[in-house]
Amino acid sequence: MTQVYDHGGGVRSLKVPIPDNPLGHTLVYVVDTDRGPVLIDTGWDDPASWDTLAEGLTACGTSPAEIHGVVITHHHPDHHGLSGRVREASGAWIAMHEADGAIVRRTRSTRPERWLTYMTAKLEAAGAPEEHLAPMRTAWPRSVPGLAPVLPDREIVPGELLALPGRRLRAIWTPGHTPGHVCLHLEEEHPARLPGHGRLFSGDHLLPEITPHIGLYEDPDDTTVTDPLGDYLDSLERVGRLAPAEVLPAHQHAFTDAASRVRELLTHHEDRLTGLLALLAEPLTPWQLAERMEWNRPWAQIPYGSRNIAVSEAEAHLRRLVKLGRAEAVAGSEPVTYLVV
Ligand SMILES: [Zn+2]
Ligand SMILES: [Zn+2]
Repeated sequence: MTQVYDHGGGVRSLKVPIPDNPLGHTLVYVVDTDRGPVLIDTGWDDPASWDTLAEGLTACGTSPAEIHGVVITHHHPDHHGLSGRVREASGAWIAMHEADGAIVRRTRSTRPERWLTYMTAKLEAAGAPEEHLAPMRTAWPRSVPGLAPVLPDREIVPGELLALPGRRLRAIWTPGHTPGHVCLHLEEEHPARLPGHGRLFSGDHLLPEITPHIGLYEDPDDTTVTDPLGDYLDSLERVGRLAPAEVLPAHQHAFTDAASRVRELLTHHEDRLTGLLALLAEPLTPWQLAERMEWNRPWAQIPYGSRNIAVSEAEAHLRRLVKLGRAEAVAGSEPVTYLVV
């Protein structure tokens, strides 16, 4: 039986499982409106996850066919995966920020071999050793069936109230984890009258016990030099200033005192940047930096695929340091190395 939690004030959450993932589940929120329930995120596209979502909606006294709309915090498959099935069942609209909508369009049109070539070249430029690159050079590029994300039909415009009849739900643009990540601020008094301003659906931006992955915004068709970690830190301060009475995240559990969680995360990244500066006393490639950074386990035990994510995270921190004028690429180095300024 699906676990349904009633948060009060016409908001419930359903635990929709993510197969083979340590995160366990996505919390899909069901928000009652005058035109029927609206979902915030939908969960992973998997038959068992769909059954869990459908059963959960039944337990809430509704069904997939009754859904009025779907609001997506960001394009990742554990959030947007089941949106297409919900829309098929109900005719619901799907809303997403334009920057993530663009990623969905690109994912649908980019051939897998182009993606593989891009990632290989990128890792080579970051100083990845040949033994890491070799399997990518000979890999057979293939798309994963069933994982093509669906296009949204509505754009979430930052700062605007969403068209949710009878509710006040405002979009807060919080780029960093993805370029178009949004939090959704329910500007209504907390049902238990907890102190603060309403409730915040925080997606992956603000989670109670884990730090979301911040890498570079990878895009084979866009060479803009972005600063995702800078975006993320700014977005953290933005949601801290909202001072919500309660945070309803997309993983783990609801929590209060958003301001202190924001401070913890800001401190975590500050410490990380300071640690990197110490490492950059000698010139290092992004790959060498990733090898020397602290992770949740020693580098030798980090699985192959996770190393790519780790390098992307190291690069996001380097990008930030370069932007702050604290580190610099060494002229003429290839692969590029960085050094403290
Ligand atoms: Zn995510
Ligand atoms: Zn997630």
